[in-house]
Amino acid sequence: MSASVDPVSLTQQLVRFDTVNPTSPELDCARFLAELLEEGGFRVRLHEFAPGRASLVAFSAEMTGAPLCFAGHLDTVPLGAAPWKHDPFAGETDAGRLYGRGSSDMKSGIAAMACAALDLVRAGSLRTAGLTLVFVAGEETGCEGAAHLARTAGTLGKAGAMVVGEPTGGLPLVGHKGALWLEARTRGVTAHGSMPERGVNAIYRAARVVTALEGLRFDVPPDSLLGRPTLNVGTIRGGLNVNSVPDQAVIGIDIRTIPAQRHAQVRDEVGRALGPDVELAPLVDVPGVRTDENDPFIRTVFELVERRQGRRPAAASAPYFTDASILTPAFGGIPTVILGPGELVQAHQTDEYAEVRCIEETTELYRELGRRFCGA
Ligand SMILES: [Zn+2]
Repeated sequence: MSASVDPVSLTQQLVRFDTVNPTSPELDCARFLAELLEEGGFRVRLHEFAPGRASLVAFSAEMTGAPLCFAGHLDTVPLGAAPWKHDPFAGETDAGRLYGRGSSDMKSGIAAMACAALDLVRAGSLRTAGLTLVFVAGEETGCEGAAHLARTAGTLGKAGAMVVGEPTGGLPLVGHKGALWLEARTRGVTAHGSMPERGVNAIYRAARVVTALEGLRFDVPPDSLLGRPTLNVGTIRGGLNVNSVPDQAVIGIDIRTIPAQRHAQVRDEVGRALGPDVELAPLVDVPGVRTDENDPFIRTVFELVERRQGRRPAAASAPYFTDASILTPAFGGIPTVILGPGELVQAHQTDEYAEVRCIEETTELYRELGRRFCGA
């Protein structure tokens, strides 16, 4: 049996792997974690959705109950154009902060989960249910790694509840909206700009589409926590040059849905509003996630957080979407909480950092949760 692993130094080690998506594949980082978990008694499998793009799934010994799943992603976003004061791949600590790309989003979460899992196995705390760790590649570009696992039969096994360790500053979030990003294309007939009567202007058609989208309202009651669905036209491009009649225009639409909506129906609704001449294609399609605050698993999580922080956290949701969009339905709609040691506002920032204290405290919270869920 290996010695206890410290979550802060493990976060540093993980930050030193460059896993910027899509330029630096996750395989080396996944192999490193696989070795660590295998030494600690886990059965580990790597799953590549493309060369070098490896997700990791690790199982502790099987028990009678469905396992608790700890989930997170290995990839990070790029560094951005602004210069960093701290080396983004060194994992330096300074005044209680651990710096580096992915320190908050979410290598501290992966480290805390891995350490808690290893400790729980070592201490013999898993008595009625085991642990499953799902550390995926390719989250930042639309949950590619999770989607690959979900459609590959037998890779995930069963789970009874899930923690997604995205940055929340140690607070529990019980859901988030879904994202349906669509591309709407209008077509026309090109002609010389001096003779527009000979063509059909695709940009005029697109302008009508944009106006229709601005007025579109989804007929669904608001979610008590997530509120109403939203729609934003984010991009528009079209035309060849100023002196031609444009024969094509493309509009990028970002719809954020609530769990009461089915994305196929939302797409049909948008299609009907825009008419048959507009071509619609999905860019990203991930459903929302929402677990009832009164679910026993969520109540346990809230109770543990309350005991550590001295007051009961308010039910809240995440502004971003996560791998739970794919994994929660893949596990049959299990109770899901988003809770990790990274700082929400640090995600994707220059000089990204995580609070060392929060990494340690969240690791302890994961251990307590594991003892409660798997040891009863
Ligand atoms: Zn993330």
